[in-house]
Formats: sequence, structure tokens, C-alpha cells
Amino acid sequence: MAKHSSILFEDAIIVTMDPRRRVIEGGSILVEGDRIAEIKGPDKRSEKAEQRISAKGMAVIPGLVDTHLHLAQSLLRGCADDLSLVEWLRERVWPIQGCFTEDDGRVSAQLSMLEMIRSGTTSFVGVDVVSRYGFDGIAESVVKAGLRGALAKTIMDSPGYGRKGSIMPAGLVEDKEACLREAKSMVKKWNGIRGGLVRTWLAPRSLGGCSRELYEEVAELAKEQKTRVTMHLAEVKEDVRYAKQNFGLTPFEFIEKVGLAGPRSLFAHMVWLTDNDVKRVGDTKANVAHCPSSNLKLASGIPKVPELLAAGANVGLGCDGAPCNNSYDMIRELKIAAVIQKGRLLDPLTMPASAVLEMATIRGARAMGMESQVGSIEVGKKADLAFVDLRKPHLTPFRDIVSNIVYSAMGSDVDTVLADGRLLLRHGKALTLDEEEIVGGAQRRQDELISRSGVRA
Ligand SMILES: [Zn+2]
Repeated sequence: MAKHSSILFEDAIIVTMDPRRRVIEGGSILVEGDRIAEIKGPDKRSEKAEQRISAKGMAVIPGLVDTHLHLAQSLLRGCADDLSLVEWLRERVWPIQGCFTEDDGRVSAQLSMLEMIRSGTTSFVGVDVVSRYGFDGIAESVVKAGLRGALAKTIMDSPGYGRKGSIMPAGLVEDKEACLREAKSMVKKWNGIRGGLVRTWLAPRSLGGCSRELYEEVAELAKEQKTRVTMHLAEVKEDVRYAKQNFGLTPFEFIEKVGLAGPRSLFAHMVWLTDNDVKRVGDTKANVAHCPSSNLKLASGIPKVPELLAAGANVGLGCDGAPCNNSYDMIRELKIAAVIQKGRLLDPLTMPASAVLEMATIRGARAMGMESQVGSIEVGKKADLAFVDLRKPHLTPFRDIVSNIVYSAMGSDVDTVLADGRLLLRHGKALTLDEEEIVGGAQRRQDELISRSGVRA
């Protein structure tokens, strides 16, 4: 859709996620250019639109926000299943990723984004972008796809890792000066381009991958360049042992000490937190990316999400990557996020459907620093919308549409997606990326990667 053109979506069930969490049945949304210009109830009709699209039988939700995913991992789908974490990283994920060419990095990013678009995600934080994946190719792909992507450049100065015996293969190791130099040039070249569609963040590696001084330097650099920071933290028990042994602190206490805890930081996983850590996460207004499938599949543990929310922390949702979740489908993640907490706390009232959808929308937007722009359907906000087709046996009937979306829907129920006012998906067909080419070439590319890496998978 060209800028300044207008399109009216009529007769939808609008799940606004606005401050009053209104749901408007039979409502219409007028999109003008990249923004939502009007939202009306069933009794009012807008006359202004150049194009009208019936959304009868559809629920429209804010475009979903995935706060933690690895763009370079969709090509590793099926390569590292049912393994313990150290084996998973050391024997599969790292050796294969250490053989990536820039072309693999670009194609893997496109495959990931295609899946996101088809399942209603319009904004994401792509973590751990190392140089060999080719930053320019990935950033250009984000622009081509039409998504909002925060690309977080890996920062490291040690090939080690907090987890016992985990040393990265040479192909993934970068030295400190090169990381920082590239991060600076990447911020200069890409941050905020295309009206903010591409943003650049810093991603210091997990504990053990950076020296104490480097974490402090990243905190300074982020302040200086006004960029945001994301990292994996307290993901497995081993991280707690490492932090205690090396710093005499918990992982979060250490991160607070080096100046990285705060509202501009986003920490993935946060499974192993003390009660005091939970309180400090809330007090510092740090953001958390909760990745329930990944935590369960890798047997990392179950984070204290309701406790974090009660402490005032902001928690978003993330798919993580293909080797640890096997999909980039945020709608599948909703149900898991709800049910694991009920099971953990033996409390069916905890994590209701509405709280989970908040994590995938408005809270995710806050975690990305974009709450005033996206994450809810409100007049003046960017037109990032996902239409879920309800005319299916598993989605009908309903009393509370949010419940049906969280507990019954699947990513493949998404029919139409807009981001920044641009149609990215229509009747399940991707409009900005070449699905045939990307899907058609993925198997050959994975076969070649595995044979180059020498991994037996
Ligand atoms: Zn991750």
C-alpha cells in the first residue's frame, strides 16, 4: 500500500489491548498511510476509505512482538533436538553456525521472518548477530520483509561461556575491538532507518563470554549511543554457579553492578532468580524476555513470571530459536506461557489469557521501547495488525475472544498482516518475501551447512 492511501477494515472483532483493554465487536479500523486513523463501533460507518476490506469472521489483534529470537537459527531446524544443553550448544548449534556464510545469514533471517509474518508477528528483537552472518544482508532483509526488527550485535571478548566446558568454535569467535568497532558502525549505518523499522541494539554475550570490563564498556556505549541492550541471563542453573564462583554474586546482582540493569535493558530467560533478584528486576525496571518453549525443551527450568510481574517488572514473550523451540510462532507460545505457570504454582488462576496476550503485545512493545508506537490498536499508533480467521472448528464458538486466541488459536490461523500500514500477508500469502524461493531452497542449504560443519545430525 502506498503512503497516504487509506484502507478500511470492516466488521472485525477488534482486540484493542488499549489501556481499557476494550474488545469491539463488529468494529472497523481505518488505516491512513502508516497509522491507525479511526476505530469505530458497529453503529458508525467511515466514509473516507479508498479501499474497503471485509474482516467479517476475523479477530484483529495488535501485531505480535517477539522479544527474543535468533534469526540465524531457522536453518538449524531439527538439527539439535532432545539433547542436553552443553551437547546442544557445543556439538550442534555452534559448529553449524560457525560455518555460516553471509548468504546463509541472510536466507536464515528471511526464513525466520517469513514464519513470523505468517503467524502474526510484526516486531522482533533478533539477538546474537555475529559478523559472519552479514549484518547488512540481514538489515536489508528486514526492510524488504517490512517488519520492525531490532538487530542486536554480539559483543564478546572471550570464547568461553558460563556453562561448564563450553568453548565456541573459531568461526564464531570475535575479538573485543572488532565487536565494538562493528557495533558502532552498524549503529551509525542502520539505527532508525526507514522510519525506525530497523533498530540496532547491543548484545553482550552471556556470563563467561565477556570480561567484567567489557560489560561496563557496553553499559557506557549504550548510554552514549542511546541504544538498547539485550542478553541471555540466568538461563540455566550453571549460570548461578558461575556468577557465584567468579563474582560472589547472583547473575542479576552482577549485571546491576556493572551498570546494565535498567529500563533500556532486556534480559532473556531469567529462570534462576532469587526472591531478592525478582524484587531488584522490578525496582530497576529492567525488561524480561520470557521464552517458555525454549526453557521447557532445553530443561532449563520455569521462570517466576507471575512473581516478576507482581514485582513491577515488564515481561515480554519470545520464541528463541529453531533448535530450542522449533518454531517462530508467537501464537503457539501464548498457551504454553499460560499453562506452565498454572502447573508450576498449582494455581489455575495465575497467568490468565489476558495477561499472556499483554506480554505478546503491549508489554513486548514496552520492552522494545516502542510502547507509544505499537503494541495496541489505538488511533494515532502505527498500523501493525494481525487478523485471525475464526471460521474454523477449533476457534468457534467463543465467549471471550482473548481466551480463544490464547488457548485455541495457532499461527496458521493468521490470514492478513499489516506492519507500518503495509500489507505483508493477505489470505495467508506472503506479499513481501518470496516464499517459494525461500522455502524451496532451505533444505539444500541446511544439507550443505551440515556437511561443511562435519556435524553428524
Ligand atoms: Zn536465545
